[in-house]
Amino acid sequence: MVAQVIDGKAFAAKVRAQVADQVAKLKEESGITPGLAVVLVGEDPASQVYVRSKGKQTVEVGMNSYEHKLDAETSEEDLLALIDKLNNDPAVHGILVQLPLPKHLNEDLVINSIDPAKDVDGFHISNVGLLGTGQKSMVPCTPLGCLMMLRDHHGSLSGMDAVVIGRSNIVGKPMAQLLLGDSCTVTIAHSRTKDLPDVVRRADIVVAAVGRPEMVPGDWIKEGATVIDVGINRIERDGKNKLVGDVDYASAAERAGAITPVPGGVGPMTIACLLANTLTACCRANGLPEPEGLTA
Ligand code: NDP
Repeated sequence: MVAQVIDGKAFAAKVRAQVADQVAKLKEESGITPGLAVVLVGEDPASQVYVRSKGKQTVEVGMNSYEHKLDAETSEEDLLALIDKLNNDPAVHGILVQLPLPKHLNEDLVINSIDPAKDVDGFHISNVGLLGTGQKSMVPCTPLGCLMMLRDHHGSLSGMDAVVIGRSNIVGKPMAQLLLGDSCTVTIAHSRTKDLPDVVRRADIVVAAVGRPEMVPGDWIKEGATVIDVGINRIERDGKNKLVGDVDYASAAERAGAITPVPGGVGPMTIACLLANTLTACCRANGLPEPEGLTA
């Protein structure tokens, strides 16, 4: 079997177009423009790239983008004061604090100071609890993007066996909750899982979120399974820098029914879902119906 490629780049463009359409409608019908505030502390080069890209895409879909760049030495008190100001600003519907934060800042404290209704990253403890109990929440962007692609490919996921490799708070755990919410039978695997190859071989859906280049070989993949590769690993091969996933794409594509490539799979969906979450937060804040097809 040669796998169908799930094109995350094209899918993300479709999501952004959907968001842009609904933002235009919102502006026309109610005069409201969704606004996303992104807070960057310090000068981490990768974070600067992400923040620039988020700001650019926010403006492209017709939303307002507010960037707050703070010194690496910013005190916790000053950062919390800024978040408080954004929490109380009616023009701001989504707040994202770019992680990782400099070591002297307490990440949990900072994230939990964001108004949960504006927590478009879905990392606030209230949103984690709401997702875990199957209630309406803000859903972390990367797992939401994976879910959208899986729903698009399969329609219903009900009854499917899913394995999520990785149990981080930002990808593995929320991904497992979302799959459970769609009635999959879910296994969460991690570094202590016994006989990982056998666990993965049982799965109709494999989501790999580990951070180890090409760790999952094709012969772990059940014939016809759907493989979602969240991993982004920079490696050097043949003297060139290259991005690879957590799955060995070439061998997995020979057995899978469908697979996301790296790059061009899950990656582009993350920012698209951030925009979708900002629109959702704006609609909820204004008592308007939620955008269709853009929430969990
Ligand atoms: P973390 O490092 O927080 O978590 C990695 C998980 O993988 C842990 O639960 C760990 O288990 C597990 N793990 C490590 N080694 C093994 C192993 N040998 N076998 C099985 N499980 C193992 O990573 P993240 O969840 O933050 O990210 C995972 C990957 O996804 C990274 O490559 C990251 O760059 C990428 N990513 C991509 C995004 C995108 O937009 N596409 C967004 C976010 C992340 P244990 O808990 O036991 O240590």
